Amino acid sequence: MFAKRAVLSLRSLASSSLQAKPNIAAFYGTVSDVPLTPSPLEKARTATVPRHDWTKDEIRDIYNTPLMKLSYAAGIVHQKFHDPASIQMCTLMSIKTGGCSEDCSYCAQSSRYNTGLKATKLSPVDSVLAAARIAKENGSTRFCMGAAWRDMRGRKTNLRNIKEMVKGVKALGMESCVTLGMIDLAQAKELKDAGLTAYNHNVDTSREFYPSVITTRTYDERLQTIQNANDAGLSVCSGGILGLGEKAIDHVGLLHTVSTMPSHPESFPVNTLVPIKGTPLGDNAPSPFDATLRTIATARIIMPRTIIRLAAGRTTLSEEQQVLCFMSGANAVFTGEKMLTTACNGWDEDKAMFQKWGLRPMESFRTGAGEGASAPMQEGMQAKQQPLAEELI
Ligand code: SF4
Repeated sequence: MFAKRAVLSLRSLASSSLQAKPNIAAFYGTVSDVPLTPSPLEKARTATVPRHDWTKDEIRDIYNTPLMKLSYAAGIVHQKFHDPASIQMCTLMSIKTGGCSEDCSYCAQSSRYNTGLKATKLSPVDSVLAAARIAKENGSTRFCMGAAWRDMRGRKTNLRNIKEMVKGVKALGMESCVTLGMIDLAQAKELKDAGLTAYNHNVDTSREFYPSVITTRTYDERLQTIQNANDAGLSVCSGGILGLGEKAIDHVGLLHTVSTMPSHPESFPVNTLVPIKGTPLGDNAPSPFDATLRTIATARIIMPRTIIRLAAGRTTLSEEQQVLCFMSGANAVFTGEKMLTTACNGWDEDKAMFQKWGLRPMESFRTGAGEGASAPMQEGMQAKQQPLAEELI
């Protein structure tokens, strides 16, 4: 850069030697024009290992980068740590719907809101495994099971059945993930011993905004469950929801919470609110797409090894918007007939999109053991990936 400037400046000096005296400072700049330390974005772009000591100011600086520059930088980091053609396909089934005692303001399954949703008991193991088989036949490699509970206290029989589900999903060669509310360390260990890959527990939003959304459990209780899952050796899936009425600084706060965990979540789902009539947030305006893209790109830059998942609200994105998300670091989707109680992009639609854009389903257990397992792409990784979608159809 300096040499180029010097050549340009010499040319300019030569051409102007017979004219007015050149303004040297204008050609060379001054010492104070040269940044003495690289920006947080620049440092992150060239880093080879994840950092866990992000400050909110650094994350805000990255989040506020002009969007195109941010998106390009995220794409560069993404290609360094992942195969950019590889997208994890997950199917999320509700194995126990509704009747939840919690007051999450966005949720159709809370018993506190009149959403017309019928509460059910835990699904039989056989029917869950039948759904997992269908998901596998359609290309999904991770099968997630969600139960609308506050926690697992006093649910011994349910836990036993869920462990059977986990074992069955593993026997199919699929990764398994469950989201069951708060769990203690002993329950996390039981699930790990049954072969569970990952535990989902979202932090939802920033610590500051959280009490505006949920009052029946604290942010710290959420973090404790995440720590329990981590301590048991499970991968952690933990992300957020955009469009709850929060501000951009809360996206920064959310990103700060997850990126300063001792181990970054193996998976970071980015949801946008699907407003449900009857819930307190049922009339919220849609979250703007640029906020989704900024959140994804920033997450990719500050948590380079994490799987970033386009989650609820994907049905509102055009194919091109989804591709922009993939180019900015997203590398997982929920796919199938339903996503818990809301609509989901279907397998056929996703297969067609994958075929058109040269994407392929990520192989099972590509990342299954947390941050350390999803190291920068190793030589030969490409050969292990599943075939391109066009070969599957
Ligand atoms: S804990 Fe889960 S199921 Fe219960 S209200 Fe909150 S989001 Fe809904």
